[in-house]
Amino acid sequence: MKRVLILGGTGDASALAAKALTLPGVEVRVSLAGRTPQPLAIPGIVRIGGFGGVAGLTTYLRDEAIDVLIDATHPFAAQISLNAAAATDELGIPRLMLVRPAWESVPGDQWIEVDNMAAAADALEGQAKRVFLTIGRQQLASFARLHEIWFLMRLINQPEPEAVIPKGLLLFAQGPFDLTAERQLLIQHEIDTIVTKNSGGSATNAKIIAARELGIKVVMVRRPPIPPGDQVRDVEEALVWLRGMGSGA
Ligand code: NAP
Repeated sequence: MKRVLILGGTGDASALAAKALTLPGVEVRVSLAGRTPQPLAIPGIVRIGGFGGVAGLTTYLRDEAIDVLIDATHPFAAQISLNAAAATDELGIPRLMLVRPAWESVPGDQWIEVDNMAAAADALEGQAKRVFLTIGRQQLASFARLHEIWFLMRLINQPEPEAVIPKGLLLFAQGPFDLTAERQLLIQHEIDTIVTKNSGGSATNAKIIAARELGIKVVMVRRPPIPPGDQVRDVEEALVWLRGMGSGA
């Protein structure tokens, strides 16, 4: 029996957990950071909360006798991926990263690619009036200094009470989002620019297509680097890798 820890917080992690559970000889555990007050139902044994850095994760992996780790966290969850690499290296545990492909621009797109949220805010200054901000809730403060811009901010959860919020409207919704609704949203709010992380995947890419159609600018925040190691692009490839680990399937 192989005990697999899936680091989650993404739709891919949940889908992988559901499929990995059906493999003979595999026991699945999923770990969530605990950011979402009411996470969607996830198959398998779920644990919630940080481990306490590399040392805490190393202890957890050893104490729970984890055989294999699959890092299926969001491409912008850089810290936990580094921690996972360090802990598995120390213990000699095989580790796979499920990294969905990044979105790519096509000719005609008006993308401005930047490395972080501060640079995204700089790119808006004097260039945008009505901005659709789809970056989650943790880095909204980077845009609060832009008093001349109105922001439509789409979030899954309420910001922390002490959070500094830019001027505009908060909209609570969770993907997947469809093209018709995204197009309508951009038109209704007279959006001239979108700011987004390059999350990749299909659940939230309709806004990118709608922007393309409507000639709307996109400030695209590039992904942070990931640690070296085995990588796959999707759930099916991750299952192939897992079988190769000798799950017995
Ligand atoms: P992060 O900056 O990489 O991690 C910060 C700390 O949160 C980690 O050091 C770890 O705490 C804890 N943590 C993160 N993911 C965890 C997991 N799956 N299980 C247990 N602890 C975890 O991560 P983040 O950007 O805050 O993202 C947090 C979670 O939200 C991740 O699971 C990620 O997949 C999901 N998510 C993130 C984004 C995004 O844009 N960043 C978007 C969608 C979903 P300790 O050091 O105490 O272990």
